Amino acid sequence: MADDTVGKDVAPKGPHGSSEVGAPREQRAADEPQKGFLSELFAPVAGFGVSFSTMFRKVATEEYPEKPRPTAPRFHGRHQLNRHPDGLEKCVGCELCAWACPADAILVEGADNDDTPLEQGGKGRFSPGERYGRVYQINYLRCIFCGLCIEACPTRALTMTNFYELADNDRGKLIFTKDQLLAPLQGGMLPPPFPMVDGMEERDYYQGKVTSATDDQKAFVEARDASGADGDRDGIVDAPGNPGASVPGAHDLAHAAHPTAAQTREGANP
Ligand code: SF4
Ligand code: SF4
Repeated sequence: MADDTVGKDVAPKGPHGSSEVGAPREQRAADEPQKGFLSELFAPVAGFGVSFSTMFRKVATEEYPEKPRPTAPRFHGRHQLNRHPDGLEKCVGCELCAWACPADAILVEGADNDDTPLEQGGKGRFSPGERYGRVYQINYLRCIFCGLCIEACPTRALTMTNFYELADNDRGKLIFTKDQLLAPLQGGMLPPPFPMVDGMEERDYYQGKVTSATDDQKAFVEARDASGADGDRDGIVDAPGNPGASVPGAHDLAHAAHPTAAQTREGANP
């Protein structure tokens, strides 16, 4: 079929067949509907109307930090190293959490539990298993709170709390050491090192057969403290690369004020 526009001066069409594309400005102005005087007068007032109607909506402003809102139940916050009900540590120093971490934020150095009497140079027992985590650090300058470490932990020693106020103006203080990450002692717990519950094996601990420290364990800890023999307890805070934190009590008071296990989700269900 022959094109009847060939040789004619035809204005280019817009996407909807209108003549706005390439048309002279005067023609486009003529195509627009005429605005009335009143609509142009009240157009700014309509804008104020949006602001006015918003004044009556429910306020969504959060009064942080005076009134912090509770986090989601499964929020990924600061980590915690949990304990068994008698106070022994759940961490067995396997380093699986460190290997699982995509940000290389965890440092673990395991050591053997030692049941040799402390007076004879024994290092002491810190967990029910063969080994325990002697050095444990999490670098919160690197951590992305993905939770892969807690998924990798075979003993549920490592969990995450709902605590998120981790900002600091000192980079060194954001490398948390074992003494900062360990769950506080709760009722019925004793500070390691001390022997396992008599007659119990490691498996019994994980099957929930130990519910609190026994009288034998309490007597051991009393005698240990009276003699001044601490085993390898000082080793808990030996932290290569973070010498400031290796001095007990030297870390910032704000860190010491971290919520106790009882205040956290995991503390209620370690
Ligand atoms: S939460 Fe993720 S980034 Fe942080 S220490 Fe665990 S594995 Fe590493
Ligand atoms: S926290 Fe868990 S995964 Fe990490 S070293 Fe301890 S037991 Fe192993």
